[in-house]
Amino acid sequence: MTLDPRASLAVPVGFQRTWRERPSVVSHAVMRWTTASFYLLGGALVSLVAGLLGAGADGRGVAVVGAIAGALGLLVAVLGHRCPRWAFHVFAVLGTALVTVLVLLGGGGAASIALSGPYVFVIVNTVFLFPLWQSVCHVVLTEVACAVSLVHVGATSGHVVLVMGSTLGMGAMVAWLARAASAADEDPLTGLLNRRGFDKRLEEVLRTADREGGQVALAVLDVDQFKQVNDVEGHLAGDRLLLACARAWVDLVPEDAHLARYGGDEFTLLLPGTPLGRAADLVDELRRHTPEEVTISAGVAAWQRSDSGSMLISRADVALYEAKTTGRDRSVAYGDPHRAASELETAIAAGQLVIAYQPIVRLRTGEVVGSEALVRWRHPDKGLILPDHFIPEAERTGAIRSLGRWLVAEVCRTVMEGPEPRRSVGINVSAQELRSPEYAAVIVEQLRLHRMSGDLLVLEVTEGAFDDDDPHVLTNLAALREADILVAIDDFGSGYSSLRRLAHLPIDIIKIDGALVRAIRPDSHDAPILEAIATMGRSLGVRLVAERVETAHQVEVLVGLGYELGQGFHFGRPALD
Ligand code: C2E
Ligand code: CA
Ligand code: CA
Repeated sequence: MTLDPRASLAVPVGFQRTWRERPSVVSHAVMRWTTASFYLLGGALVSLVAGLLGAGADGRGVAVVGAIAGALGLLVAVLGHRCPRWAFHVFAVLGTALVTVLVLLGGGGAASIALSGPYVFVIVNTVFLFPLWQSVCHVVLTEVACAVSLVHVGATSGHVVLVMGSTLGMGAMVAWLARAASAADEDPLTGLLNRRGFDKRLEEVLRTADREGGQVALAVLDVDQFKQVNDVEGHLAGDRLLLACARAWVDLVPEDAHLARYGGDEFTLLLPGTPLGRAADLVDELRRHTPEEVTISAGVAAWQRSDSGSMLISRADVALYEAKTTGRDRSVAYGDPHRAASELETAIAAGQLVIAYQPIVRLRTGEVVGSEALVRWRHPDKGLILPDHFIPEAERTGAIRSLGRWLVAEVCRTVMEGPEPRRSVGINVSAQELRSPEYAAVIVEQLRLHRMSGDLLVLEVTEGAFDDDDPHVLTNLAALREADILVAIDDFGSGYSSLRRLAHLPIDIIKIDGALVRAIRPDSHDAPILEAIATMGRSLGVRLVAERVETAHQVEVLVGLGYELGQGFHFGRPALD
């Protein structure tokens, strides 16, 4: 979905909402008790006056209708919480039908006029409980029934107008009051519930769940880097963005869910009767329906019996924090290891990922000194997929962390089960993984499990990761080097590399980007950048590996420049074990 920059904020979202949705104060419990009360009250009143209507009226018939209304009232009071929302439309239509029967039983004259009184209950009930367009339908139906029945029993036009006028007037007043009362629970920008409205719904839903059992899930959704949108593009753009999210999401959430703008750029979603996994899937669906220029992080949590609303919210907040700190643009479900896995995670579990090892050699002799582990996906339908086609997506969804964990365990196993002498293996690590606070501990634990020494593992990290503003990146790298693990800067020379900066980076190896090596051609002997890097590397005591070496000529030039190690098709392609 794209955000149309011309999208106007002036669209009366409030009115659209009033037209399409019930007032936000109307919860299911409110529907149940208002409908039950009107039926009980109407039934009691009618039964009470049944014997006092005078000669023309069918007193016994009126008493029967009164009893039916009373019984219906009891039914709604007892079973109303189980009734679906459409059932309340049936109750409204039934109410109209019963009052119409009463008017007819009145036999005309004063009794019929008096017995048309409960029409006002039906009208007030419907304009209060239902979205405006549905209220209008009910009001039209009821007024038509009122006019037809009164005319039928011979009421004068003056009487008909008076009865219709007063019921309509009462209906309009209640419709307006209910909407005005709801305004305090609504966010004026998006028309969604605000924090106050949401907290009320939350209390109510949890009370019901506590009494009747059942699952409740709660999600917190947060726009990534919203502050930047506000600061750079202005508050109007920020508002427009929030509005676009609200509009897209309102139609995607289930009928009994409560979506709120909880504050700033944070939305909350309350899902009664929903298990955690389904809630997380729904949240992912919402995240996919966001204006293209932004991403959303979300935390989802499941309610546990006797949890308060604020405990549930704070659990979802913890999950949101994890989503934010592990790379954003993803959702995390609190404490659920069975969270619906991504396709890649399923593939890992199904053993569809394999590792190709590409040798790293001594340039002078061709002797193999180590290798780099490169992952491939043996897809059952699409065949062998290279990492460039799934790593970026894995970084977006957070599945990269599962991949990284699988990879390091697999590499450690292969190294330790393989023949002696053991040689070091390089694994590629995304900045995304390094942001995870426990990353270093996970790697160190794998080494311990496999009794592998740290210096057999090389972590290949691209330059950009060192610029990451997340402090965990550098703490992880420091902890890893502490465990003797080697850190290589990968693809060096492909970006805005600074030679001077190399001295301050916590690295042991520099892997020179293939593009610099490719520039070595038979006709160009001059390679000033490669020469400068070699000089710098030697003075820092860092090992140099030239990548993508494809020709004997390149080997010759690199050796001449003082390069010691190389990797590329000239020596060996990545090969599956
Ligand atoms: P990279 O780290 O620069 O890996 C080297 C890539 O260059 C590999 O591509 C390799 O097949 C290719 N290559 C090696 N020698 C030559 C050569 O002489 N000529 C040419 N033209 N290419 C050569 P591959 O396997 O497709 O991997 C692409 C990238 O995917 C890697 O680039 C690395 O950034 C990423 N990657 C691979 N495995 C993993 C992984 O397990 N985790 C993460 N996070 N990234 C990975
Ligand atoms: Ca690499
Ligand atoms: Ca590389």
